[in-house]
Amino acid sequence: MQFRTEMQVYLCCLMNQKVRVRFAPSPTGGLHLGGVRTVLFNYLFAKQNGGDFIVRIEDTDQTRFVEGAEAYIFETLKWCGMVPDESPLHGGPFAPYRQSERKANYKQYAEQLVKAGYAYYAFDTPAELEEMRTNYKTAENPSPQYNHALRDKMRNSLFLPAEEVTALLSTNTPYVIRIKMPTDETIQFTDMIRGEVSFHTSQVDDKVLLKADGMPTYHLAVVVDDYQMQISHAFRGEEWLPSAPVHLLLWKYLGWEKEMPQWAHLPLILKPDGNGKLSKRDGDRLGFPVFAMDWTDPKTNETTIGFKERGFLPEAFVNLLAMLGWNDGSDQEIFSMLELIEKFSIDRVHKGGAKFDYEKAKWYNHEWIKRMPAKHLELSVQKLFAEKGITITDDSLLAKAIDLVKDRCTLMPDFIQQASFFFELPAEIDIAAVKPKWDEKKNMFFTELIRAYELSTLWEAPGLEIEFKELAAVNQLKPGELMLPLRIMLVGGKFGPGVFDIAAAIGKESTIERIKQVMRLLE
Ligand code: GLU
Repeated sequence: MQFRTEMQVYLCCLMNQKVRVRFAPSPTGGLHLGGVRTVLFNYLFAKQNGGDFIVRIEDTDQTRFVEGAEAYIFETLKWCGMVPDESPLHGGPFAPYRQSERKANYKQYAEQLVKAGYAYYAFDTPAELEEMRTNYKTAENPSPQYNHALRDKMRNSLFLPAEEVTALLSTNTPYVIRIKMPTDETIQFTDMIRGEVSFHTSQVDDKVLLKADGMPTYHLAVVVDDYQMQISHAFRGEEWLPSAPVHLLLWKYLGWEKEMPQWAHLPLILKPDGNGKLSKRDGDRLGFPVFAMDWTDPKTNETTIGFKERGFLPEAFVNLLAMLGWNDGSDQEIFSMLELIEKFSIDRVHKGGAKFDYEKAKWYNHEWIKRMPAKHLELSVQKLFAEKGITITDDSLLAKAIDLVKDRCTLMPDFIQQASFFFELPAEIDIAAVKPKWDEKKNMFFTELIRAYELSTLWEAPGLEIEFKELAAVNQLKPGELMLPLRIMLVGGKFGPGVFDIAAAIGKESTIERIKQVMRLLE
Protein backbone atom coordinates (compact mmCIF):
# COMPACT_ATOMS: atom_id res chain seq x y z
CA MET A 1 0.00 0.00 0.00
CA GLN A 2 2.67 2.43 1.14
CA PHE A 3 4.50 1.65 -2.03
CA ARG A 4 1.64 2.52 -4.33
CA THR A 5 1.22 6.08 -3.16
CA GLU A 6 4.92 6.73 -2.94
CA MET A 7 5.07 5.40 -6.45
CA GLN A 8 2.35 7.82 -7.51
CA VAL A 9 4.24 10.77 -6.05
CA TYR A 10 7.42 9.47 -7.62
CA LEU A 11 5.76 9.15 -11.03
CA CYS A 12 4.48 12.65 -10.62
CA CYS A 13 8.04 13.88 -10.15
CA LEU A 14 9.31 11.80 -13.04
CA MET A 15 6.72 13.38 -15.29
CA ASN A 16 8.00 16.69 -14.01
CA GLN A 17 4.60 17.48 -12.62
CA LYS A 18 4.55 19.52 -9.48
CA VAL A 19 2.24 18.35 -6.70
CA ARG A 20 -0.75 20.69 -6.87
CA VAL A 21 -3.85 20.05 -4.78
CA ARG A 22 -7.05 21.99 -4.40
CA PHE A 23 -9.79 22.54 -1.90
CA ALA A 24 -12.87 23.40 -3.90
CA PRO A 25 -15.68 24.45 -1.59
CA SER A 26 -19.07 25.74 -2.62
CA PRO A 27 -19.81 28.85 -0.55
CA THR A 28 -23.10 27.67 0.88
CA GLY A 29 -22.70 28.14 4.65
CA GLY A 30 -20.57 27.29 7.65
CA LEU A 31 -17.69 24.88 7.22
CA HIS A 32 -18.32 21.41 8.66
CA LEU A 33 -15.37 19.79 10.41
CA GLY A 34 -15.29 17.21 7.63
CA GLY A 35 -14.67 20.03 5.16
CA VAL A 36 -11.79 21.34 7.25
CA ARG A 37 -10.33 17.84 7.44
CA THR A 38 -10.44 17.71 3.62
CA VAL A 39 -8.50 20.99 3.56
CA LEU A 40 -6.05 19.60 6.08
CA PHE A 41 -5.27 16.43 4.15
CA ASN A 42 -4.85 18.46 0.96
CA TYR A 43 -2.60 20.90 2.76
CA LEU A 44 -0.46 18.26 4.47
CA PHE A 45 0.06 16.37 1.24
CA ALA A 46 1.00 19.54 -0.64
CA LYS A 47 3.43 20.78 1.99
CA GLN A 48 5.02 17.37 2.44
CA ASN A 49 5.75 17.19 -1.26
CA GLY A 50 6.84 20.78 -1.75
CA GLY A 51 3.66 21.37 -3.72
CA ASP A 52 0.99 24.04 -4.01
CA PHE A 53 -2.26 24.26 -2.14
CA ILE A 54 -5.00 25.96 -4.13
CA VAL A 55 -8.41 27.12 -3.00
CA ARG A 56 -10.98 27.38 -5.75
CA ILE A 57 -14.47 28.63 -5.05
CA GLU A 58 -17.08 26.50 -6.80
CA ASP A 59 -19.99 28.90 -7.04
CA THR A 60 -21.63 27.87 -10.29
CA ASP A 61 -24.88 27.06 -8.54
CA GLN A 62 -26.10 30.60 -7.96
CA THR A 63 -29.24 29.38 -6.25
CA ARG A 64 -27.13 28.01 -3.40
CA PHE A 65 -24.92 31.07 -3.05
CA VAL A 66 -24.84 32.42 0.50
CA GLU A 67 -23.55 35.86 1.40
CA GLY A 68 -20.50 35.75 3.67
CA ALA A 69 -19.77 32.05 3.19
CA GLU A 70 -16.62 32.61 1.15
CA ALA A 71 -15.15 35.07 3.66
CA TYR A 72 -15.95 32.55 6.39
CA ILE A 73 -14.01 29.83 4.56
CA PHE A 74 -10.91 32.02 4.37
CA GLU A 75 -11.25 33.05 8.02
CA THR A 76 -11.38 29.40 9.00
CA LEU A 77 -8.30 28.53 6.97
CA LYS A 78 -6.44 31.42 8.54
CA TRP A 79 -7.47 30.38 12.04
CA CYS A 80 -6.23 26.84 11.36
CA GLY A 81 -2.94 28.10 9.93
CA MET A 82 -3.44 26.75 6.43
CA VAL A 83 -2.59 29.55 4.05
CA PRO A 84 -3.36 28.82 0.39
CA ASP A 85 -0.65 29.37 -2.21
CA GLU A 86 -3.30 30.36 -4.75
CA SER A 87 -6.90 31.47 -4.24
CA PRO A 88 -9.29 34.31 -5.09
CA LEU A 89 -7.85 36.09 -2.08
CA HIS A 90 -4.18 35.28 -2.61
CA GLY A 91 -4.14 35.43 -6.42
CA GLY A 92 -1.99 33.15 -8.56
CA PRO A 93 -1.05 32.24 -12.12
CA PHE A 94 -4.38 30.55 -12.88
CA ALA A 95 -6.68 33.34 -11.70
CA PRO A 96 -9.59 33.83 -11.49
CA TYR A 97 -10.17 31.18 -8.83
CA ARG A 98 -13.93 31.68 -8.60
CA GLN A 99 -15.82 29.55 -11.08
CA SER A 100 -18.51 32.19 -11.59
CA GLU A 101 -15.74 34.46 -12.92
CA ARG A 102 -14.57 31.72 -15.31
CA LYS A 103 -18.02 31.26 -16.85
CA ALA A 104 -16.93 32.05 -20.42
CA ASN A 105 -14.40 29.28 -20.24
CA TYR A 106 -16.62 26.22 -20.06
CA LYS A 107 -19.10 26.35 -22.89
CA GLN A 108 -16.54 25.54 -25.57
CA TYR A 109 -15.77 22.23 -23.87
CA ALA A 110 -19.42 21.30 -23.59
CA GLU A 111 -19.80 22.06 -27.32
CA GLN A 112 -16.67 20.06 -28.10
CA LEU A 113 -18.27 17.08 -26.33
CA VAL A 114 -21.49 17.49 -28.31
CA LYS A 115 -19.55 17.57 -31.58
CA ALA A 116 -17.66 14.44 -30.65
CA GLY A 117 -20.90 12.63 -29.79
CA TYR A 118 -20.20 12.39 -26.05
CA ALA A 119 -22.87 14.88 -25.05
CA TYR A 120 -26.12 16.24 -26.43
CA TYR A 121 -28.52 19.16 -26.31
CA ALA A 122 -31.64 18.56 -24.23
CA PHE A 123 -34.60 20.90 -24.73
CA ASP A 124 -36.94 19.43 -22.13
CA THR A 125 -38.80 22.00 -20.10
CA PRO A 126 -39.12 21.65 -16.32
CA ALA A 127 -42.72 20.51 -16.86
CA GLU A 128 -41.60 17.82 -19.28
CA LEU A 129 -38.99 16.58 -16.86
CA GLU A 130 -41.59 16.41 -14.14
CA GLU A 131 -43.87 14.49 -16.44
CA MET A 132 -41.09 11.98 -17.15
CA ARG A 133 -40.59 11.48 -13.42
CA THR A 134 -44.27 10.79 -12.91
CA ASN A 135 -44.92 8.72 -16.00
CA TYR A 136 -42.03 6.32 -15.58
CA LYS A 137 -42.25 5.94 -11.85
CA THR A 138 -42.62 2.30 -10.80
CA ALA A 139 -42.29 0.35 -7.57
CA GLU A 140 -38.78 -0.78 -8.59
CA ASN A 141 -37.80 2.65 -9.88
CA PRO A 142 -39.41 5.28 -7.63
CA SER A 143 -37.32 8.17 -8.98
CA PRO A 144 -36.68 7.70 -12.69
CA GLN A 145 -33.67 9.56 -14.05
CA TYR A 146 -32.71 11.03 -17.37
CA ASN A 147 -30.50 8.18 -18.52
CA HIS A 148 -29.74 5.65 -21.24
CA ALA A 149 -33.09 3.93 -20.69
CA LEU A 150 -35.24 7.03 -20.93
CA ARG A 151 -33.34 9.48 -23.08
CA ASP A 152 -35.09 8.26 -26.24
CA LYS A 153 -38.40 9.36 -24.70
CA MET A 154 -37.18 12.91 -24.22
CA ARG A 155 -36.66 15.96 -26.42
CA ASN A 156 -32.97 15.99 -27.18
CA SER A 157 -30.57 16.19 -30.08
CA LEU A 158 -30.00 12.44 -30.00
CA PHE A 159 -33.53 11.59 -30.95
CA LEU A 160 -35.15 14.68 -32.50
CA PRO A 161 -34.77 15.05 -36.28
CA ALA A 162 -31.69 17.12 -37.18
CA GLU A 163 -33.77 19.92 -38.78
CA GLU A 164 -35.80 20.28 -35.61
CA VAL A 165 -32.66 20.57 -33.52
CA THR A 166 -31.28 23.24 -35.86
CA ALA A 167 -34.59 25.09 -35.73
CA LEU A 168 -34.74 24.94 -31.94
CA LEU A 169 -31.18 26.21 -31.65
CA SER A 170 -31.69 29.02 -34.16
CA THR A 171 -34.80 30.23 -32.31
CA ASN A 172 -32.84 30.34 -29.06
CA THR A 173 -34.91 27.68 -27.36
CA PRO A 174 -33.40 27.10 -23.93
CA TYR A 175 -31.38 23.93 -23.68
CA VAL A 176 -28.95 22.18 -21.42
CA ILE A 177 -26.06 19.99 -22.46
CA ARG A 178 -26.03 16.51 -20.97
CA ILE A 179 -23.33 13.87 -20.99
CA LYS A 180 -24.27 10.74 -22.88
CA MET A 181 -23.37 8.00 -20.42
CA PRO A 182 -22.40 4.77 -22.18
CA THR A 183 -25.05 2.10 -21.70
CA ASP A 184 -22.84 -0.79 -20.81
CA GLU A 185 -19.32 0.00 -19.72
CA THR A 186 -17.30 -0.52 -16.59
CA ILE A 187 -15.29 2.43 -15.44
CA GLN A 188 -12.34 1.75 -13.21
CA PHE A 189 -9.80 3.82 -11.39
CA THR A 190 -7.34 3.53 -8.53
CA ASP A 191 -8.30 5.59 -5.54
CA MET A 192 -5.36 6.42 -3.27
CA ILE A 193 -7.39 5.35 -0.22
CA ARG A 194 -9.78 2.74 -1.54
CA GLY A 195 -7.62 1.02 -4.13
CA GLU A 196 -9.43 -0.26 -7.23
CA VAL A 197 -12.90 1.23 -7.61
CA SER A 198 -15.28 0.41 -10.42
CA PHE A 199 -18.68 1.58 -11.61
CA HIS A 200 -21.08 0.39 -14.17
CA THR A 201 -22.20 3.20 -16.45
CA SER A 202 -25.79 1.94 -16.59
CA GLN A 203 -26.14 3.09 -12.97
CA VAL A 204 -25.25 6.69 -13.75
CA ASP A 205 -27.65 9.24 -15.24
CA ASP A 206 -26.93 11.69 -18.05
CA LYS A 207 -25.76 14.54 -15.85
CA VAL A 208 -26.24 18.10 -17.01
CA LEU A 209 -22.89 19.66 -17.93
CA LEU A 210 -24.00 23.10 -19.08
CA LYS A 211 -27.11 24.81 -17.79
CA ALA A 212 -29.60 26.84 -19.80
CA ASP A 213 -28.04 30.10 -18.56
CA GLY A 214 -24.66 29.06 -19.94
CA MET A 215 -23.25 28.29 -16.49
CA PRO A 216 -21.47 24.97 -16.22
CA THR A 217 -22.58 22.51 -13.57
CA TYR A 218 -20.12 21.36 -10.97
CA HIS A 219 -19.29 18.24 -13.02
CA LEU A 220 -18.02 20.09 -16.05
CA ALA A 221 -16.42 22.94 -14.13
CA VAL A 222 -14.49 20.70 -11.75
CA VAL A 223 -12.91 18.77 -14.61
CA VAL A 224 -12.08 21.80 -16.75
CA ASP A 225 -10.60 23.67 -13.78
CA ASP A 226 -8.64 20.74 -12.40
CA TYR A 227 -7.16 20.36 -15.87
CA GLN A 228 -6.42 24.02 -16.45
CA MET A 229 -5.06 24.53 -12.95
CA GLN A 230 -2.80 21.50 -13.38
CA ILE A 231 -4.09 19.71 -10.31
CA SER A 232 -2.05 16.58 -9.65
CA HIS A 233 -3.99 15.04 -6.73
CA ALA A 234 -7.63 15.54 -5.81
CA PHE A 235 -8.63 14.78 -2.23
CA ARG A 236 -12.31 15.15 -1.52
CA GLY A 237 -15.07 13.72 0.63
CA GLU A 238 -16.47 10.26 0.03
CA GLU A 239 -19.83 11.80 -0.88
CA TRP A 240 -18.27 12.68 -4.25
CA LEU A 241 -17.40 9.08 -5.12
CA PRO A 242 -20.67 8.52 -7.07
CA SER A 243 -19.71 11.49 -9.28
CA ALA A 244 -16.30 10.03 -10.07
CA PRO A 245 -17.43 8.01 -13.15
CA VAL A 246 -18.82 11.17 -14.76
CA HIS A 247 -15.58 13.02 -14.07
CA LEU A 248 -13.41 10.16 -15.32
CA LEU A 249 -15.35 10.00 -18.56
CA LEU A 250 -15.08 13.75 -19.02
CA TRP A 251 -11.30 13.60 -18.59
CA LYS A 252 -11.22 10.89 -21.21
CA TYR A 253 -13.69 12.48 -23.66
CA LEU A 254 -11.92 15.82 -23.50
CA GLY A 255 -8.66 14.07 -24.35
CA TRP A 256 -6.93 14.91 -21.07
CA GLU A 257 -6.69 11.43 -19.59
CA LYS A 258 -2.93 11.63 -19.18
CA GLU A 259 -3.22 14.77 -17.09
CA MET A 260 -5.95 13.42 -14.84
CA PRO A 261 -5.21 13.86 -11.12
CA GLN A 262 -4.85 10.95 -8.72
CA TRP A 263 -8.04 10.62 -6.71
CA ALA A 264 -8.46 10.15 -3.00
CA HIS A 265 -11.95 10.00 -1.53
CA LEU A 266 -11.77 10.66 2.19
CA PRO A 267 -13.94 8.61 4.57
CA LEU A 268 -16.95 10.22 6.20
CA ILE A 269 -16.98 11.59 9.71
CA LEU A 270 -19.70 9.65 11.51
CA LYS A 271 -22.08 10.40 14.36
CA PRO A 272 -20.75 9.35 17.79
CA ASP A 273 -22.73 6.10 17.62
CA GLY A 274 -21.38 5.39 14.14
CA ASN A 275 -24.86 5.52 12.69
CA GLY A 276 -24.49 7.70 9.60
CA LYS A 277 -22.79 10.93 8.65
CA LEU A 278 -22.29 13.54 11.37
CA SER A 279 -24.52 16.51 10.65
CA LYS A 280 -24.91 19.98 12.07
CA ARG A 281 -28.19 18.81 13.52
CA ASP A 282 -26.42 16.04 15.47
CA GLY A 283 -24.22 18.70 17.01
CA ASP A 284 -27.25 20.79 18.01
CA ARG A 285 -28.95 17.72 19.44
CA LEU A 286 -25.94 16.45 21.38
CA GLY A 287 -24.59 19.86 22.38
CA PHE A 288 -21.28 20.07 20.57
CA PRO A 289 -19.96 22.11 17.66
CA VAL A 290 -19.76 20.66 14.17
CA PHE A 291 -18.71 23.83 12.36
CA ALA A 292 -15.17 25.19 12.55
CA MET A 293 -16.21 28.69 13.65
CA ASP A 294 -19.48 30.37 14.56
CA TRP A 295 -21.73 30.71 11.55
CA THR A 296 -24.68 33.07 11.37
CA ASP A 297 -27.14 32.24 8.64
CA PRO A 298 -27.86 35.53 6.87
CA LYS A 299 -31.44 34.51 6.14
CA THR A 300 -32.57 33.28 9.54
CA ASN A 301 -29.99 35.17 11.60
CA GLU A 302 -29.48 31.97 13.55
CA THR A 303 -25.99 31.29 14.85
CA THR A 304 -24.43 27.86 14.95
CA ILE A 305 -21.60 27.52 17.43
CA GLY A 306 -18.11 26.68 16.16
CA PHE A 307 -15.10 24.93 17.68
CA LYS A 308 -13.23 28.22 17.81
CA GLU A 309 -15.84 30.03 19.88
CA ARG A 310 -16.46 27.00 22.06
CA GLY A 311 -12.86 27.44 23.19
CA PHE A 312 -10.76 25.10 21.07
CA LEU A 313 -7.21 26.03 20.15
CA PRO A 314 -6.53 25.83 16.42
CA GLU A 315 -3.60 23.49 17.14
CA ALA A 316 -5.94 21.09 18.94
CA PHE A 317 -8.61 21.37 16.26
CA VAL A 318 -6.11 20.54 13.51
CA ASN A 319 -4.69 17.69 15.59
CA LEU A 320 -8.07 16.11 16.31
CA LEU A 321 -9.13 16.42 12.68
CA ALA A 322 -5.98 14.67 11.52
CA MET A 323 -6.73 11.79 13.88
CA LEU A 324 -10.24 11.37 12.46
CA GLY A 325 -9.36 8.65 10.01
CA TRP A 326 -5.56 8.71 10.17
CA ASN A 327 -2.73 7.68 12.49
CA ASP A 328 0.99 7.32 12.01
CA GLY A 329 1.06 3.67 13.07
CA SER A 330 2.39 4.43 16.56
CA ASP A 331 0.62 5.40 19.80
CA GLN A 332 1.40 9.04 19.29
CA GLU A 333 -1.73 11.18 19.42
CA ILE A 334 -0.44 14.70 19.81
CA PHE A 335 0.93 16.17 16.60
CA SER A 336 1.80 19.72 15.67
CA MET A 337 1.17 20.92 12.13
CA LEU A 338 4.88 20.53 11.35
CA GLU A 339 4.90 16.95 12.60
CA LEU A 340 1.78 16.21 10.60
CA ILE A 341 3.40 17.59 7.47
CA GLU A 342 6.35 15.33 8.11
CA LYS A 343 4.45 12.18 9.07
CA PHE A 344 1.19 12.29 7.12
CA SER A 345 0.74 9.54 4.60
CA ILE A 346 -2.34 8.90 2.56
CA ASP A 347 -1.72 5.14 2.89
CA ARG A 348 -2.57 5.33 6.56
CA VAL A 349 -5.93 7.01 5.99
CA HIS A 350 -8.62 4.48 6.86
CA LYS A 351 -11.22 3.44 4.33
CA GLY A 352 -14.00 3.26 6.90
CA GLY A 353 -15.75 6.26 8.41
CA ALA A 354 -14.36 7.82 11.58
CA LYS A 355 -16.68 8.21 14.57
CA PHE A 356 -16.64 11.65 16.12
CA ASP A 357 -16.19 11.61 19.88
CA TYR A 358 -16.61 15.02 21.51
CA GLU A 359 -15.05 13.88 24.79
CA LYS A 360 -11.95 12.84 22.87
CA ALA A 361 -11.99 16.16 21.01
CA LYS A 362 -11.94 17.96 24.35
CA TRP A 363 -9.12 15.72 25.51
CA TYR A 364 -7.01 16.99 22.59
CA ASN A 365 -7.76 20.55 23.55
CA HIS A 366 -6.85 19.91 27.18
CA GLU A 367 -3.56 18.35 26.11
CA TRP A 368 -2.79 21.32 23.88
CA ILE A 369 -3.65 23.88 26.54
CA LYS A 370 -1.36 22.06 28.97
CA ARG A 371 1.50 22.06 26.48
CA MET A 372 1.06 25.65 25.31
CA PRO A 373 3.48 28.22 26.72
CA ALA A 374 1.55 30.87 28.70
CA LYS A 375 2.68 33.48 26.19
CA HIS A 376 0.62 31.90 23.41
CA LEU A 377 -2.52 31.87 25.53
CA GLU A 378 -2.26 35.34 27.03
CA LEU A 379 -4.12 37.22 24.34
CA SER A 380 -7.07 34.85 24.21
CA VAL A 381 -7.35 34.68 27.99
CA GLN A 382 -7.17 38.46 28.23
CA LYS A 383 -9.99 38.71 25.68
CA LEU A 384 -12.13 36.25 27.61
CA PHE A 385 -11.56 38.20 30.81
CA ALA A 386 -12.35 41.49 29.12
CA GLU A 387 -15.70 40.05 28.01
CA LYS A 388 -16.41 39.37 31.69
CA GLY A 389 -15.37 42.88 32.67
CA ILE A 390 -12.06 41.86 34.23
CA THR A 391 -9.16 44.03 33.11
CA ILE A 392 -5.67 42.73 33.43
CA THR A 393 -3.03 45.30 34.16
CA ASP A 394 -0.22 43.04 35.29
CA ASP A 395 1.06 40.93 32.39
CA SER A 396 3.48 38.96 34.51
CA LEU A 397 0.67 37.98 36.87
CA LEU A 398 -1.36 36.86 33.85
CA ALA A 399 1.48 34.63 32.66
CA LYS A 400 1.90 33.20 36.18
CA ALA A 401 -1.84 32.59 36.55
CA ILE A 402 -2.03 30.83 33.18
CA ASP A 403 0.89 28.60 34.05
CA LEU A 404 -0.65 27.71 37.39
CA VAL A 405 -4.12 26.81 36.10
CA LYS A 406 -3.72 25.62 32.52
CA ASP A 407 -3.58 21.96 33.62
CA ARG A 408 -7.12 22.44 34.92
CA CYS A 409 -8.59 23.93 31.73
CA THR A 410 -10.18 21.86 28.98
CA LEU A 411 -11.77 24.64 26.96
CA MET A 412 -10.51 28.22 26.89
CA PRO A 413 -13.46 29.71 28.83
CA ASP A 414 -12.44 27.46 31.75
CA PHE A 415 -9.75 30.07 32.43
CA ILE A 416 -12.46 32.42 33.66
CA GLN A 417 -13.58 30.01 36.37
CA GLN A 418 -10.06 28.87 37.14
CA ALA A 419 -8.14 32.13 37.13
CA SER A 420 -10.30 35.19 37.69
CA PHE A 421 -9.51 35.23 41.44
CA PHE A 422 -5.95 36.18 40.54
CA PHE A 423 -7.18 39.53 39.29
CA GLU A 424 -10.09 40.37 41.57
CA LEU A 425 -11.33 39.37 45.00
CA PRO A 426 -13.26 36.10 44.81
CA ALA A 427 -16.77 36.87 43.60
CA GLU A 428 -18.29 34.27 45.91
CA ILE A 429 -16.95 32.82 49.12
CA ASP A 430 -17.93 29.32 50.17
CA ILE A 431 -18.07 30.24 53.84
CA ALA A 432 -20.08 27.11 54.66
CA ALA A 433 -16.98 25.04 53.84
CA VAL A 434 -15.07 26.67 56.74
CA LYS A 435 -17.61 27.81 59.28
CA PRO A 436 -18.56 24.50 60.99
CA LYS A 437 -14.94 23.79 61.97
CA TRP A 438 -13.87 27.37 62.63
CA ASP A 439 -12.85 27.96 66.25
CA GLU A 440 -10.82 30.27 68.44
CA LYS A 441 -7.64 28.28 67.85
CA LYS A 442 -7.90 28.72 64.12
CA ASN A 443 -8.78 32.34 64.53
CA MET A 444 -5.60 32.77 66.60
CA PHE A 445 -3.57 30.94 64.04
CA PHE A 446 -4.67 33.15 61.15
CA THR A 447 -4.20 36.29 63.23
CA GLU A 448 -0.61 35.22 63.82
CA LEU A 449 -0.21 34.18 60.21
CA ILE A 450 -1.17 37.68 59.10
CA ARG A 451 1.49 39.10 61.42
CA ALA A 452 4.12 36.64 60.19
CA TYR A 453 3.31 37.28 56.55
CA GLU A 454 3.36 41.02 57.07
CA LEU A 455 6.96 40.66 58.22
CA SER A 456 7.95 38.35 55.35
CA THR A 457 10.64 39.83 53.19
CA LEU A 458 10.84 37.07 50.63
CA TRP A 459 7.38 36.47 49.11
CA GLU A 460 7.78 33.08 47.50
CA ALA A 461 5.70 29.90 47.70
CA PRO A 462 8.21 27.58 49.48
CA GLY A 463 9.00 30.17 52.16
CA LEU A 464 5.30 30.95 52.71
CA GLU A 465 4.56 27.27 53.12
CA ILE A 466 7.38 26.77 55.67
CA GLU A 467 6.20 29.75 57.70
CA PHE A 468 2.63 28.44 57.60
CA LYS A 469 3.63 24.95 58.73
CA GLU A 470 5.96 26.16 61.48
CA LEU A 471 3.24 28.37 62.85
CA ALA A 472 0.79 25.48 62.75
CA ALA A 473 3.25 23.34 64.73
CA VAL A 474 3.70 26.06 67.35
CA ASN A 475 -0.09 26.26 67.68
CA GLN A 476 -0.38 22.46 67.80
CA LEU A 477 -2.63 22.44 64.78
CA LYS A 478 -2.50 20.10 61.81
CA PRO A 479 -1.61 22.03 58.63
CA GLY A 480 -4.15 19.88 56.78
CA GLU A 481 -6.99 21.47 58.75
CA LEU A 482 -5.78 24.97 57.99
CA MET A 483 -5.18 24.54 54.30
CA LEU A 484 -8.87 24.50 53.35
CA PRO A 485 -9.68 27.75 55.19
CA LEU A 486 -6.68 29.39 53.53
CA ARG A 487 -7.84 28.18 50.12
CA ILE A 488 -11.36 29.50 50.68
CA MET A 489 -9.86 32.82 51.80
CA LEU A 490 -7.71 33.21 48.71
CA VAL A 491 -9.86 31.59 46.02
CA GLY A 492 -13.41 31.60 47.36
CA GLY A 493 -14.00 27.87 46.77
CA LYS A 494 -12.54 24.39 46.88
CA PHE A 495 -10.60 24.60 43.64
CA GLY A 496 -7.44 25.99 42.13
CA PRO A 497 -3.74 25.22 42.16
CA GLY A 498 -1.48 25.06 45.23
CA VAL A 499 -2.49 27.69 47.82
CA PHE A 500 1.04 28.97 48.40
CA ASP A 501 1.56 29.35 44.66
CA ILE A 502 -1.59 31.44 44.62
CA ALA A 503 -0.44 33.54 47.58
CA ALA A 504 2.94 34.08 45.94
CA ALA A 505 1.29 35.12 42.68
CA ILE A 506 -1.30 37.55 44.06
CA GLY A 507 1.26 39.16 46.40
CA LYS A 508 1.52 40.04 50.03
CA GLU A 509 -1.04 42.80 50.18
CA SER A 510 -3.81 40.91 48.45
CA THR A 511 -3.14 37.68 50.40
CA ILE A 512 -3.41 39.47 53.72
CA GLU A 513 -6.46 41.42 52.62
CA ARG A 514 -8.25 38.20 51.58
CA ILE A 515 -7.42 36.42 54.86
CA LYS A 516 -8.74 39.38 56.83
CA GLN A 517 -11.90 39.63 54.77
CA VAL A 518 -12.91 36.03 55.42
CA MET A 519 -11.97 36.26 59.08
CA ARG A 520 -14.38 39.15 59.39
CA LEU A 521 -17.08 37.08 57.73
CA LEU A 522 -16.43 34.30 60.22
CA GLU A 523 -16.65 36.46 63.31
N1 GLU B 1 -17.54 21.89 -4.88
C1 GLU B 1 -17.47 20.59 -4.30
C2 GLU B 1 -17.82 20.73 -2.83
O1 GLU B 1 -18.51 21.63 -2.50
C3 GLU B 1 -16.07 20.04 -4.49
C4 GLU B 1 -15.98 18.58 -4.70
C5 GLU B 1 -14.61 18.22 -5.25
O2 GLU B 1 -13.63 18.45 -4.52
O3 GLU B 1 -14.51 17.75 -6.37
O4 GLU B 1 -17.44 19.97 -1.98
